[in-house]
Amino acid sequence: MKNLHKRILEEGKALSDTVLKVDSFLNHQVDPDLMYEMGTYFKNYFKNHKVTKIFTIESSGIAPTVMTAMQMNLPMVILKKQGSKILNSDVYQTTVHSYTKGSDYELTLSEKYINKEDNILIIDDFLANGEAALGAARLVEEAGAKVVGIGIVIEKSFQKGPQMLKDKGYDVYSLARISKLSKGTIEFL
Ligand code: 5GP
Repeated sequence: MKNLHKRILEEGKALSDTVLKVDSFLNHQVDPDLMYEMGTYFKNYFKNHKVTKIFTIESSGIAPTVMTAMQMNLPMVILKKQGSKILNSDVYQTTVHSYTKGSDYELTLSEKYINKEDNILIIDDFLANGEAALGAARLVEEAGAKVVGIGIVIEKSFQKGPQMLKDKGYDVYSLARISKLSKGTIEFL
C-alpha cells in the first residue's frame, strides 16, 4: 500500500533493529483517511474469503479493523487483554506473550460473540513473532470456528511470525512488509 509505505518512511522511527514506532498515524495519533484506505485494501483482498466476522486485538488493531468491517459490512469483535485468568465465566482465554511489553496477558473472547459456523478474519497492527495472531487464532479454533485470513498493517518480514503463520496454513496478507530495520533505515521487501 503506497500511502502506508510513504508514511512509514516519512514518520516511522526505528527504535532498534526490531521495533518500529509509528505513533503519529497508527499507535497513538490515528489518521482516519489512512485507516479507511487500509480497510479498502483488506476488503479487496479478503472479499471472496466468505468472512462472517472480523476480530482484532485491543488496542491498535481497532482503527484499521473498524474501517474494514464497515466496508465489508461485517460485525467486528475486539479481543481483550486481561491481566489474569477469569474463572467461572463464559469466556475463551489463551495466554499470549506481549512483544512490546515483554510480559504475558490473557487474550479473552466471550462465548457470546462467536459460533461454530463463523469464518473469522483476524486483523492486527503489527506482525513480529506471531504470538498475538496465533493466540487470536487459538481462541477462534477453540470455539470451533475457522480462521479464513489474517490481515496485518505492518509485517516485519525478517522476524519469525510471517513464515510461522504461513507454515500453519493461514492466509496472511500484509499492507507493508519490512525487510530490514535499523536506526535510521527502513527497507521494504
Ligand atoms: P507478535 O505477537 O507478532 O510478536 O507481535 C505483534 C504485537 O506486538 C502487535 O499487536 C503489536 O502491538 C506489537 N508489536 C510488535 N512489533 C512492533 C513494532 O515494531 N512496533 C509497534 N508499535 N508494535 C509492535
